[in-house]
Amino acid sequence: ALSDSLDKTFRNLRGVGKISEKNITDALREIRLALLEADVEFGVAKEFIAKVKEKAMGVDVFKSIKPGEQIVKIFNDELTHLLGDDAEALNLNPPAHILLCGLNGAGKTTTAAKLALRLQKEGRRPLLIACDLYRPAAIDQLATLAKQINVPCFTPDPDEKNLVKVAKQALAWAKDQQGTALIFDTAGRQEIDEKLVAELKELHRFVSPAETLLVADSATGQQAVSVARHFDEAVGITGIILTKLDGDARGGAALSMRQVTGRPIKFIGEGEKLDQFGVFHPERMASRILGMGDVVSMVETAAENINEKDAIKAAERIQSGKFDFNDFLDQMNMLRKLGPLDGLLGMLPGFNKIKKQIPADAFDENKMKRMEAIVLSMTPRERTRPELIKGSRRRRIANGSGNTIIEVNRFLKQFTQMRKMMKSKGKMKNMMQQLGGME
Ligand code: GDP
Ligand code: MG
Repeated sequence: ALSDSLDKTFRNLRGVGKISEKNITDALREIRLALLEADVEFGVAKEFIAKVKEKAMGVDVFKSIKPGEQIVKIFNDELTHLLGDDAEALNLNPPAHILLCGLNGAGKTTTAAKLALRLQKEGRRPLLIACDLYRPAAIDQLATLAKQINVPCFTPDPDEKNLVKVAKQALAWAKDQQGTALIFDTAGRQEIDEKLVAELKELHRFVSPAETLLVADSATGQQAVSVARHFDEAVGITGIILTKLDGDARGGAALSMRQVTGRPIKFIGEGEKLDQFGVFHPERMASRILGMGDVVSMVETAAENINEKDAIKAAERIQSGKFDFNDFLDQMNMLRKLGPLDGLLGMLPGFNKIKKQIPADAFDENKMKRMEAIVLSMTPRERTRPELIKGSRRRRIANGSGNTIIEVNRFLKQFTQMRKMMKSKGKMKNMMQQLGGME
């Protein structure tokens, strides 16, 4: 809860919190579960956790959050980093040969057309080449898609079974067509089989592609590692395209494949339509995999908005009873920077428990502005020495801030009470109640 966290911020002045084995055990368990639920391959999850955990040990924890929350953020950042590292644009030096490979049903044929559409929109001249000779329907499927987007498509003779021969014809055809990017759609299997791999290798050798992209269904579970490893060993993939992210899959395959091949994820498919395709966003994928976006954004907000040193300085002043109107202004600003408060507070674990104790309008912006106006109407000397503010000074402040003298008196009285209370107890919860009580 906010009051708890402020409590901690202000009271626990003994050194900065650090991440330790002990204070993140629960969080690590949750992270592990999240990764496994996202279908990250077991071994990959284990390795990833061990690596990041070791890296995180001893890292400072913002006082306003818990070590467990901080570690979720660290994992999220590392995951984003890992997924997004060295992601480069495709190598498209014309005539760029792009070979798509992957299991059956992964989305190769659809993705071939999607990629063609994208390259066409970029002003290139893509060509589609049907190299799935196992099912006549596969050739028709690609040809139909190609027609939809007005991209020329090479369709081999249905009786031709020699892949290299087909590729040779296709290259000659492509030259005539003056294409700048040639996309080869290949056959897949339910599982990797030796014959398929041998043929793919042969095609790969002949075509010598600048990009060999593994097309994988984002719902690929534990087999993601073996699939990625297999294709990578066979033909040396240069990147990964993850399909069907419009589905329920949390996309753990992204991490598994990335980790095993060291190859970047280049694009994602997000639907059956040909324009439902885009570049890969590592940060979105990370939060999809970890599924802890709330905690992450909470920690980010805390990190961005609360200057730890300022908070500690203020806390010291509070405890020494020196809290003055300048500190008050600082606190107001700090509270405001936390906004939108409702959203932030809602994310804090345990907030609801103490919600009742904080008056509903404690953070009312109008009220805060009025209090601020009063303080801003004080002279610098008055701000540091509240006890000076008597009689005519009060009237001047009231006039200056557009308040009545009654309002100013009430504010000053409450401020004095608050200060006394802080000195005696340092209880931020009560301070919150005081703030709420101010009219
Ligand atoms: P291939 O066997 O690897 O060539 O796979 P296909 O391209 O034939 O796709 C198999 C099925 O998945 C088809 O019904 C596609 O429409 C569908 N598909 C492909 N990509 C996506 C995607 O990103 N989202 C969804 N929802 N379906 C997709
Ligand atoms: Mg296909």
